[in-house]
Amino acid sequence: MTTFLSGGTGTPKLLAGAESVFDPADTTVVGNTGDDVELGGLLVCPDIDTVLFEQGGVLDRDRWWGIADDTTETHDELRALADAAGLDSGPRYLPDDAQTAGRDLARWRRFSGVAEFMELGDRDRAVHVTRTGLLDEGKSLTEVTRTLADAFDVPVDVVPMSDDPVASIVHAPETSDYADEMHFQEFWVAHRAAPEVESVEFRGAGDASPAPAALGAIEEGPVVVGPSNPVTSIGPIAAIDGLREALEDATVVAVSPFVEDEVFSGPAAKLMDAVGYDPSTAGVAAAYPFADAFVLDDDDATDLDRPVVRTDTRMDDESDAERVAEAVADALEVA
Ligand code: GDP
Repeated sequence: MTTFLSGGTGTPKLLAGAESVFDPADTTVVGNTGDDVELGGLLVCPDIDTVLFEQGGVLDRDRWWGIADDTTETHDELRALADAAGLDSGPRYLPDDAQTAGRDLARWRRFSGVAEFMELGDRDRAVHVTRTGLLDEGKSLTEVTRTLADAFDVPVDVVPMSDDPVASIVHAPETSDYADEMHFQEFWVAHRAAPEVESVEFRGAGDASPAPAALGAIEEGPVVVGPSNPVTSIGPIAAIDGLREALEDATVVAVSPFVEDEVFSGPAAKLMDAVGYDPSTAGVAAAYPFADAFVLDDDDATDLDRPVVRTDTRMDDESDAERVAEAVADALEVA
């Protein structure tokens, strides 16, 4: 068995070429759910969906989210309708008391569907309608995720980190032009990571239990942390006590999302800086005290206190991913 921890970009990229090194039938992917939102009554799980779509062979690989060649008729109509009605295009949070009412799993990241600030494709939307419907019928997020994985013929086991609500909330300084707290998706999708960040909170993590399948997979190990945002993709997973303790006990290899202090993509550097880690491979190692070995890029000379395997870690296609997966297997040997 091998267990991968996943956000929405780096680990799905690695999984895209990992099957010759890590047998999919013996692979579990634990997905971050701190990024999830409820939008217009639909629970959207962006990180888990990218894994499902990539492994199901339908991912839009240009944007690295959503379904390839999807249409957006409903989304476009929602924008047009809001525009015609003179409604602000959002993000439009539901009122405070509604944030903790209703569907428990969607606490603290519950947005109105008016103007739909995140684009949902039409086929993509069918996934969220099905997920939300099954949750409302009483299934856990773990059960629902596995059902969706079956529907997409996903060869690996995909499970959420928790069946309980955890919301990644970005806090901005008082002097900021933005609200003093916002869900990660408002920060990232609506504001393109522009707000200054004072701190990041994983609301609910203290009360959340690990999903039993996620805990079991980490305990069985070994664990691979694909290139990920240490703050908002791995942070929520490690913020759940049982999962962090299991990570401390497991053999863990992490692939750096940096080449020294150069990030491949996304807001990792800004968020790491905000929470007190150097935005670099050295900072990633500091953020992962549970990691036993690292895979770094050939051009990354960072000196770490744990074993390192080097390769070209840029992944543009499946053969790149296969090369990085082989380096991960080598790192597991020395971890
Ligand atoms: P998110 O959920 O989309 O924020 O993304 P993840 O947490 O999965 O991963 C984002 C991290 O992956 C970023 O910090 C990138 O620097 C890193 N990344 C993206 N593409 C590559 C790549 O080809 N190679 C490596 N090593 N890292 C990458």
